[in-house]
Amino acid sequence: MQEGQPVAFASRALTLAEKNYAQIEKECLSIVFACQRFHHYLYGRELVTAETDHKPLISIFSKPLLSAPKRLQSMLLTLQNYSLRVVYKPGPKMFISDMLSRATADCTGKEAVYQRHAICHLQKEQEDVQFINQAEYLNVTDQRLENSRVHTERDDALQPLKTIVLAGWPDERESISHLIREFWPHRNKISAQNGILFRGQKVIIPKSLRAEMLKRIHSSHIGGDACYRQARNTLYWPGMQAEIKDYVSNCSTCNEFAHNQQKETMLSYDIPNRPWQIVSMDLFSHRQKDYLLIVDHFFDFWEIELLPDLSTETVIKRCKAQFAQHGQPDRVITDNCPQFGTLFRRFASSWEFEHITSSPRHSKSNGKAESAVKIAKNLLRKAMHDGTDPWKAILHWRNTPTEYMDSSPVG
Ligand SMILES: [Zn+2]
Repeated sequence: MQEGQPVAFASRALTLAEKNYAQIEKECLSIVFACQRFHHYLYGRELVTAETDHKPLISIFSKPLLSAPKRLQSMLLTLQNYSLRVVYKPGPKMFISDMLSRATADCTGKEAVYQRHAICHLQKEQEDVQFINQAEYLNVTDQRLENSRVHTERDDALQPLKTIVLAGWPDERESISHLIREFWPHRNKISAQNGILFRGQKVIIPKSLRAEMLKRIHSSHIGGDACYRQARNTLYWPGMQAEIKDYVSNCSTCNEFAHNQQKETMLSYDIPNRPWQIVSMDLFSHRQKDYLLIVDHFFDFWEIELLPDLSTETVIKRCKAQFAQHGQPDRVITDNCPQFGTLFRRFASSWEFEHITSSPRHSKSNGKAESAVKIAKNLLRKAMHDGTDPWKAILHWRNTPTEYMDSSPVG
């Protein structure tokens, strides 16, 4: 449009796949189509105004890109090529586009060839968008997704939710079924794909699967806050945080070991510049088995090794294997166990690292290893109590984001 008058117009039908987009995605798609179709007019212009009669679209343009569902995100990314201002105009005032969308023009000759070419080109790009599979960006197995799909299909709230997502949300919260009102605040972030509903990039878990999910989230018996930090990246349902808290506080295994539940914090010493530069070591036994624990001061990441015997040779052999895998430390801190005696010092000088032993007067100086041992023992004890795989518990602990950080001990 220029000075209120139409300059050019174009329209196209939605493909079969696009018909299954959420209403907000369809509305956004129309802007993508318009921008790409009229690229020659719009690209490089200081300001392009797009009018939409779909209010939620305005808010999605003003929010951070990352909070949008994957497919919408990709469309918004395409639109970043243009300096776009999206404004709301009520439907009845959109009479020009309304009229033109009803008019069809017969194209002939060169013009028609050009248009066909242009449309093919655009369709290719838009097909790419339509094949974005949100599920592929999640760290979830196909089987679990299939399970979510089946349960979503039977869920008495998620089915009407899906219908409304595809049809578009009404203006009034009161006009939707009470079953889905709790999703109202998130309405602009909810999308549907392959029978699964997403809030942003998280899977919306149907009611019938939530009990199983809680069990899985808490499988290594880590605390409620840590469980929530881990779950919130991939899963969503209304009230999830409170339910996790509730579940953890009622866990019989955790309650049985409650005296070990006090928070284990790692003490810090010199701050290293890289992982595995400074490590602490300790030996511990659990259920008649001996373990070597090595903890890295950079990430607080620890490894344990089951020791067939307690000889110094065995300990050194296991250290070498760990150093070969993670890198050679500059400094190794141990206590005064006989395994860290003369033979170990010789190992230190041949592998060129500094070996520091904690003195009896400073019992806290190997605190990092001691805290890690407490965590490791706790995980082993609880896994054995549950009859579950202790290695899985350790993996789960490592994958849990560290408090106040968005990363976990494994990155
Ligand atoms: Zn527990």
